[in-house]
Amino acid sequence: MTDQDTALTPQPVCPHCGHKERDAWEWNFGNLLEGSHRGDCNSCGETFTTEREVSVYYTTKAS
Ligand SMILES: [Zn+2]
Repeated sequence: MTDQDTALTPQPVCPHCGHKERDAWEWNFGNLLEGSHRGDCNSCGETFTTEREVSVYYTTKAS
């Protein structure tokens, strides 16, 4: 795995085996939108830390 493979991905990618985690919405990243979570890979069992980064967009229309 290169750093590129695990950076800013739609799903957390295990840095050990490349497994894409599909249940990250269940993880506890803390009270803020952005935070970090440390846990075990569901595939290989190795521990890694995931940082959640959030971008916010707004759309407006006359109403
Ligand atoms: Zn893994």
